[in-house]
Amino acid sequence: MIEGRVGGKLPGRAQALRELRRTLSEAGFETAALDARLLLLTALGISATDLIAWPDTPLSPGQAETLASYTGRRLAHEPVARIIGEREFWGLLFRLSPETLVPRPDTETVVETALALLPDRRAPLRIVDFGTGSGCILVALLHELPYATGVGIDLSFGALSTARDNALANGVGARSHFALSRWADAMSGSFDLIVSNPPYIASAVIPTLDREVRLHDPQLALDGGPDGLEPYRVLLGEAGRLLGPEGLLVVEIGYDQAESLKGLAAAHGLEILRIAHDLTGTPRCIAM
Ligand code: GLN
Repeated sequence: MIEGRVGGKLPGRAQALRELRRTLSEAGFETAALDARLLLLTALGISATDLIAWPDTPLSPGQAETLASYTGRRLAHEPVARIIGEREFWGLLFRLSPETLVPRPDTETVVETALALLPDRRAPLRIVDFGTGSGCILVALLHELPYATGVGIDLSFGALSTARDNALANGVGARSHFALSRWADAMSGSFDLIVSNPPYIASAVIPTLDREVRLHDPQLALDGGPDGLEPYRVLLGEAGRLLGPEGLLVVEIGYDQAESLKGLAAAHGLEILRIAHDLTGTPRCIAM
């Protein structure tokens, strides 16, 4: 490993990448190759093209030090996205902060489902995203819907400021705004689309989550109360008040929550339009 190279010559970029990949792979990380690449490029502050064009340029002492620190953090199971401070979602780049969940590929199911069910993508749609976090769902939707405007709601100031940065960086800042509220408490008005990836893990299950989630994702974004369904009770209860007659509600759900959501929808007189599955075939999103 790089920190062991006391006084020696620093490795070239490609060699450092190979060494890091081996270190992570030997430590049992299944995504060693991808992790190593993202950590190396970020630690060195270079692009993938730089790496290909100048593979033998030796690391500077500063780069080697940063890479060693990133490597140590990864070996302690900090998620790569937390270390490098960003994550791709829907082909867009999102900055993260300790107050935001790391965007998951599963959550793209929410974006996909909403887009598939909207009758007219060029309409001036009004969207609200509850528990916006990094803003990934809202920003991805605004990116696809050129005439839509959106509000991102969160209970965390830190998350709202990160979401606003992400909206600006992805070119939809002028069509979005972000507001602090506990669900819809501070809201009125009529929307065409409600989206949400609410916290949906039952409180008692949180201690059993994978440590990369448990130790590094914010509890506020995970804990859905005693049965994990509390946020859905609130959201489905507010849907009637906030949605216009043709309005659509699209929410992410936990792998075993489809049946419970069907029950909740029936109790609120909402018709289920679609249950969509993620790439692993798990029911991940429900539209009403
Ligand atoms: N899908 C997340 C996980 O893997 C949970 C996110 C949520 O509660 N909304 O833990």
